[in-house]
Amino acid sequence: MFENLTARFEKVFRFLKGQGKLTEANIKEALREVRLALLEADVNYRVVKDFVSRIQERAVGQEVMSSLTPGQQVIKIVHEELIKLLGEKAEPLSLKGPSPVTVLLVGLQGSGKTTTAAKLALKLKKDGRHPCLVPADVYRPAAIEQLRVLAGQVGVPCYEPGQGESPESIVKAALNYAGSQRCDTLIVDTAGRLHIDRDLMEELRRLKQILSPEEILLVVDAMTGQDAVNVAEAFHKELSITGVILTKLDGDARGGAALSVRAVTGCPIKFVGVGEKLDALEIFHPDRMSSRILG
Ligand code: GDP
Repeated sequence: MFENLTARFEKVFRFLKGQGKLTEANIKEALREVRLALLEADVNYRVVKDFVSRIQERAVGQEVMSSLTPGQQVIKIVHEELIKLLGEKAEPLSLKGPSPVTVLLVGLQGSGKTTTAAKLALKLKKDGRHPCLVPADVYRPAAIEQLRVLAGQVGVPCYEPGQGESPESIVKAALNYAGSQRCDTLIVDTAGRLHIDRDLMEELRRLKQILSPEEILLVVDAMTGQDAVNVAEAFHKELSITGVILTKLDGDARGGAALSVRAVTGCPIKFVGVGEKLDALEIFHPDRMSSRILG
């Protein structure tokens, strides 16, 4: 997904390495390229501005200018700043607290919530936990069926809502169901809308109150670029999310969402979805992502 960005960075790095001595003008020229590359990758403009000015500040400093390999020094600074932007280190899920621990998945329709719920169940099962899936998206009956089928594939229990049961009633019943199934973790799939709306947020707030989730993870589609960041900001404001799962990173998105979401919301990216298969969910590692981007 980062092909264009990687190619642009490679060009800038070649230029930097090619200069025997770096002048402030050289650095400015290189950073202009970095800025353009990031904007073209759909990175949030505020994030780009801060990122570039941080590099500039460090790059024109004594330590670089007097170094024998100033180009390499600047490249090192870009690496370091990119890792910082992405969140420094992997942030594991917090699954502390009395059983069942709840993970609430929220996000817009089509972002990949239902698929991600099942992927997460598989991951936790492999880690030796006993997750249980809970379909609380009552507006899209197909979503309940979809989660039931996926639960069967993963081999974990799935709460079966009654006819016309409300999301609030589903999650309350699911807490008891988890006990009867000896499950230690509830993964709750919630309804999404095409756009953020009041009703959706109100409903999610009620579910949050009933469940006191240990994690509220926002599932966002990386392909939606800047929009993904706006969605993340809005959900965070309303629900105080604890992390983000970026899906469809295997697609041809330009990468902007991956690079901006942490900086804009302050929330860590915990996982990335890299395919439709159930094992296509990876822990997000800022340093590995940075190396992938910079080539
Ligand atoms: P929901 O409406 O948020 O529950 O979204 P779904 O879970 O139904 O997913 C919508 C579509 O996105 C489905 O076709 C999924 O297979 C697909 N999808 C979800 N995550 C990923 C991913 O990481 N990569 C790819 N390529 N497709 C994904």
